[in-house]
Amino acid sequence: MSNLKNGGRPPLTYQSFVNIAGEPPEPVVEEYSVIPLIGDTGEYELFPVPKLEELGYGDISQEDVPLFRGGETEALKRMRESLQDKEWVAKFEKPKGDPSAFLKPATTVLSPYLKFGCLSSRYFYHCIQDVYMSSKMHTKPPVSLTGQLLWRDFFYTVSFGTPNFDHMKGNKICKQIPWKESEELFVAWRDGRTGYPWIDAIMIQLRRWGWMHHLARHSVACFLTRGDLFIHWEKGRDVFERLLIDSDWAINNGNWLWLSCSSFFYQYHRIYSPISFGKKYDPNGDYIRHFIPALKHMPREYIYEPWTAPLSVQEKARCIIGRDYPKPVVDHAAASKECRDRMGEAYASSRLGGGDPAIKGKKASNSRQRKVSEYAPDPSKSKQPKKSR
Ligand SMILES: Cc1cc2nc3c(=O)[nH]c(=O)nc-3n(C[C@H](O)[C@H](O)[C@H](O)COP(=O)(O)OP(=O)(O)OC[C@H]3O[C@@H](n4cnc5c(N)ncnc54)[C@H](O)[C@@H]3O)c2cc1C
Repeated sequence: MSNLKNGGRPPLTYQSFVNIAGEPPEPVVEEYSVIPLIGDTGEYELFPVPKLEELGYGDISQEDVPLFRGGETEALKRMRESLQDKEWVAKFEKPKGDPSAFLKPATTVLSPYLKFGCLSSRYFYHCIQDVYMSSKMHTKPPVSLTGQLLWRDFFYTVSFGTPNFDHMKGNKICKQIPWKESEELFVAWRDGRTGYPWIDAIMIQLRRWGWMHHLARHSVACFLTRGDLFIHWEKGRDVFERLLIDSDWAINNGNWLWLSCSSFFYQYHRIYSPISFGKKYDPNGDYIRHFIPALKHMPREYIYEPWTAPLSVQEKARCIIGRDYPKPVVDHAAASKECRDRMGEAYASSRLGGGDPAIKGKKASNSRQRKVSEYAPDPSKSKQPKKSR
């Protein structure tokens, strides 16, 4: 047992994971044209690809599904297209990407291919390394492109070594938080009807594409949990698990634990604004207009807060708030304050007993009342680069 790295325990921070993991090995070069046989029966059976209805997704719109053509050939084509722009690869910094970019997303959009095994993560990693070799400089983990793949393995490792990783109860690295029950608020979030266009557009993109940018996922996960609605991360996790085309048990649970400040990340006072965060990337609201046609004609100054538009403006935009598009389900200023207070109380009681052993006993600077920037673990502005991703 003594030769096990880290005493056989999963490292709980990204940096310690990277130090322990070292450089990923070379990919397997052998190419297979038939499925290799495993076991000694010498037989295997091929099944036809099941239809979406057979998998229980009959209710999902097929409109945008062809966005992700399946298979390894498509995966390799997309990977090569992404890596073609060597400067983009070398300068890639995850926190700087634009979550509202939907015509040309700001990241590789290879997650569905990695999830289904159409693309080998090791092969992808080494292809990125080849680009780095021919570049004068390149960004480094955690923000670089290789750094993204290491996040994947970080969550795989922690989830494998953590009993009840996908639950709050019985999960030693998860803060015990008395989340609220509200089916009405949950359904509004799930169905993209919160009345906050930035949040709703992201949830509609999730339902239609099965994919959204990482920071868009941050926004809606924060809003559901510790930012506004104070609803259990497990409920949001279930929605993502069902609707994401890249849905992955370890990564999804790991990121929900992170975003809800239940584990890994504890700065619960830093809340994404459902108004100003998206606006800073897309002031005209093109992303919102694309996914929420009801708001298509809303003037730019009201697109993120349409309930503030005078009735005459709403009439002209052919969108009456409360009729054609919902009123906000909560007042963000009041709701986020209440969430911070509740998180503070939960953290204080988990210092007394239970909670995350990694931070237990430490003076939690995050539970102090600080001047709160209106939104956001904006990782590009974070003073804690190690946490940026
Ligand atoms: C609440 C929440 C839930 C998430 N659920 C999933 C999920 O079920 N499946 C999933 O693949 N990703 C998930 N992510 C992580 C991340 O958002 C996606 O991997 C990424 O947006 C996929 O787009 P991309 O392939 O263009 O990423 P790129 O930025 O191009 O990154 C390349 C690859 O690195 C990996 N990667 C990137 N970011 C992360 C991350 N934060 N954690 C782990 N691996 C990462 C992915 O395999 C990704 O395809 C989640 C994030 C959040 C905030």
